[in-house]
Amino acid sequence: MQVAVLGAGSMGHGIAQVSAMAGHDVVLRDIEDDLVAEGIDGIRQNLAEGIERDKVTEAEMEATLDRISGTTELGDAVSDADLVVEAVPEDMDLKQNIFQDVEASAPDDALIASNTSSLSVTEMASVLEHPDRTVGLHFFNPPHIMDLVEIVVAEQTSDETEARAIEYVEGIEKEAVVVRDSAGFATSRLGLALGLEAIRMVEQGVASPADIDAAMRKGYGYPMGPIELGDHVGLDVRLHIAEYLREELGERFKPPQALRRKVRAGNLGKKSGEGFYVWEDGEKVGMSGHWGDDDE
Ligand code: NAD
Repeated sequence: MQVAVLGAGSMGHGIAQVSAMAGHDVVLRDIEDDLVAEGIDGIRQNLAEGIERDKVTEAEMEATLDRISGTTELGDAVSDADLVVEAVPEDMDLKQNIFQDVEASAPDDALIASNTSSLSVTEMASVLEHPDRTVGLHFFNPPHIMDLVEIVVAEQTSDETEARAIEYVEGIEKEAVVVRDSAGFATSRLGLALGLEAIRMVEQGVASPADIDAAMRKGYGYPMGPIELGDHVGLDVRLHIAEYLREELGERFKPPQALRRKVRAGNLGKKSGEGFYVWEDGEKVGMSGHWGDDDE
């Protein structure tokens, strides 16, 4: 199968990698040569780490890289594609424009998929002449490690498209869960509900961020606590999704003031060096603010 991945950023290069590792031919497209090259370098690095950990062989690395090519031309990327996955920034107008351009250049029977983490796939599909071939393929970060893909069934998605999407996800050895197109799908909606409540608990002085996170790790077996997860994802990203879910689903997703304040201060989590925790070289070194005096 031929897969076109649009956007070679955090998600796009990983989606290209897992597709190629499963034996698909992949074309990775971004808007500048440097960005395409960076994406392919990212794949090379992931595979090299896989070799170090005995998860990937030298031969698999070579074969995977052989199946991937890069381009800045949309037409070159999609003209022979069976599946197009867009992983460009989270912006409805941008995604709708790309969907229209893809429909103009891709084969009539190509699936057109979005890796959006929160936007309506139904709204994206509404600009297409043949929207029945649209589906959401929500990968998780990083795609080469995370086993889940949410298959988002839009209002217009046909049964055949859904079946083909499931077949692709199972073929790349990921776990498929099928969700109807509704705000936040299954994962962001539940994950955010927990994350926002955890921040409200910090605001109310119920417990420190580290204690709340430890409670969920040790008591509930979560691999990472909800506040630390927010620092990983980026507090600006969390706030943005919370505002969207509030609009779509109601006041229970109202962002806590503490979250707004962090974002206004530019304390966005791991990527900026401080969020609810303080980060150095990508490692958590303590809690932020007055919690910083407490033991972790
Ligand atoms: P990113 O900013 O890392 O990458 C986006 C890439 O798209 C950039 O390299 C950009 O140059 C490129 N791009 C912009 N316009 C383009 C165009 N017209 N054609 C091709 N490429 C174009 O973003 P990301 O974090 O990889 O997110 C991409 C999508 O995946 C978003 O919809 C996001 O919501 C979703 N997502 C992200 C995560 C995550 O944790 N980062 C997880 C799941 C889903």
